[in-house]
Amino acid sequence: AEGAGGPLPVLGRDVRVPLVTGGEVTYAALDYAASAPALQRVWDDVAAYAPYYGSVHRGAGHLSQLSTELFEDSRRTVAEFLGCREGDQVVFTRATTDSLNLLSAALPQGTKVFVFETEHHASLLPWRAHDVTYLDAPRSPEAAVATLESALHGAPAGPKLVCVTGASNVTGEVWPVRELARAAHRHGARLVLDAAQLAPHRPVSLAELEADWVALSGHKLYAPFGAGVLAGRADWLVQAEPYLAGGGASRRVARSADGGVEVEWHTTAARHEAGSPNVIGAYALAAACRALTEAGFDGLVAREEELLARLRAGLADVPQVRVLSLFGEGADQVGVVSFVVEGWNSSHFAAALSAEYGIGVRDGLFCAHPLLRTLLGREGDAPGECGAPEAAPGSPSSAGEAPTLNAVRVSFGAGTPDEHVD
Ligand code: PMP
Repeated sequence: AEGAGGPLPVLGRDVRVPLVTGGEVTYAALDYAASAPALQRVWDDVAAYAPYYGSVHRGAGHLSQLSTELFEDSRRTVAEFLGCREGDQVVFTRATTDSLNLLSAALPQGTKVFVFETEHHASLLPWRAHDVTYLDAPRSPEAAVATLESALHGAPAGPKLVCVTGASNVTGEVWPVRELARAAHRHGARLVLDAAQLAPHRPVSLAELEADWVALSGHKLYAPFGAGVLAGRADWLVQAEPYLAGGGASRRVARSADGGVEVEWHTTAARHEAGSPNVIGAYALAAACRALTEAGFDGLVAREEELLARLRAGLADVPQVRVLSLFGEGADQVGVVSFVVEGWNSSHFAAALSAEYGIGVRDGLFCAHPLLRTLLGREGDAPGECGAPEAAPGSPSSAGEAPTLNAVRVSFGAGTPDEHVD
């Protein structure tokens, strides 16, 4: 595309894999929605820091001091990347699932939660200890806002939370986050954005989106596994019991008069970060934020849209392919496309792409079973973990069975090498 930047170099772009037909090819990783390869730049930054890392916040030694500085600097980098406002907190977690469970645990007593059935299980399920209203799948961004408005309209006074995903991990479609946040606020509710899929593709700013919290995962944002973020308003986080009890979260602990212990917890992000934090993970996540910011989302989005248009045009040429979409033609979409191939078992199709072409995609129900049911208009196959096939493709139990009801997903992003594209 005119003016588009090139791909950001990623690890593993030169991995060669054998094909069943003989020979070998360069592996094309097209499952970025599950986990994106780390940027070379992130890996280099981590390698440069690795010899110096130490445990943070406690040691007086030089390396501990340096690590504390880099850990807190990473927090500031992430805060800037996510457009945090004055007073917002950035809590380092393990990933999006962890972040949303943390927020769920921190909700005030009696909070009513509103969530669309279309959510990934990580944003659908953590709220079950609360009073949850599940909203039917909307068929347009406008319908999403209208559905939320009418659900909130009749809701009683008291704390309310809306949880919404910014870009679907199944259809790649972008949700109207700011409009939903405004609707939530009009009715005295707050909104948490699951940006696991949005943040690797588009700029995410709490201030601009007017969201109260955002959750994301480093491993989908071109950093390695193990670190994620929950960022946003401090008040509910500071009032809540710590997510984990332990060192780091506690400012002062003493034996109490009744023979027990009394604890004074931190009121900073450390309150929810008990235990020795994942300093390298946080540093890597911040390095990815820096790399994406420096590359500039304008160029990254333009290139991704060009790849998306090519993929969609290619799929449109195959009559048996049905692309899954909630919002229909013309919806704003990131580089995530799911489809069914009529007459094909999707796990066999995905296995064939890998074995015959060296292309790695995902098949199944993508940890979004209610959404898949709505999109497919029928039940999916009996799913294993998040819809992975229970029988290995080609195994006797799956050979000769009826075509699967699951789907195939192709996903990519700023780091997709040009040579993987054709
Ligand atoms: N939300 C969405 C939209 C996702 O796609 C995913 C991961 N597939 C998650 C949440 C959960 O992320 P993690 O597994 O990193 O906790």
